[in-house]
Amino acid sequence: MSKKLSNIGLYPGSFDPITKGHMDIIKKALNVFDKVVVAVLKNSSKNMLFSLDERQKLISDIYQSTPKVQCIALDSKLAVELAREIKASAIIRGLRAMSDFEYEFQIAGINRSQNKDIETVFFAADDKLTFVSSSMVKEIASYQGKIGKFVDPVVKRALKNRINAGS
Ligand code: ADP
Repeated sequence: MSKKLSNIGLYPGSFDPITKGHMDIIKKALNVFDKVVVAVLKNSSKNMLFSLDERQKLISDIYQSTPKVQCIALDSKLAVELAREIKASAIIRGLRAMSDFEYEFQIAGINRSQNKDIETVFFAADDKLTFVSSSMVKEIASYQGKIGKFVDPVVKRALKNRINAGS
């Protein structure tokens, strides 16, 4: 009898920082994939609050007792390349609203141009989380607003420390 290969999904993004919106996509993806590998991308086009390693560590801390979720920092490689290496079945992305669609559709096309064997699958955000984004959370935190509903306590602490250190 041949052994079934595990079905791995690769979830790439900036995760600056990871929010409950991202975590909801990971939870939904675990209903479809045996394992989700979160790839934190450097993303030179955005101004990041947390370094690549910090962003990766926050995710690893949150999922330390969830072996089905693993997190890798990607600084010199394309996500599709990692997908090939880890034999991922698909790239995972999340959709909040129609406004995400055009950008996501473009990235899916770029990824396909680099590796035609890797498909992108989209999971829809929960109604309660459609407005949650990393930038919105950073903005609220910078004014000492309440962010507990939008991020894990690990991230809440890290944001508070970072913002207090900068003020
Ligand atoms: P990127 O900079 O690559 O877009 P992000 O960390 O902002 O990285 O997002 C990674 C993925 O997660 C994207 O597909 C994005 O649409 C999705 N995402 C972000 N926030 C949410 C949310 N609240 N609900 C669902 N999907 C989300």
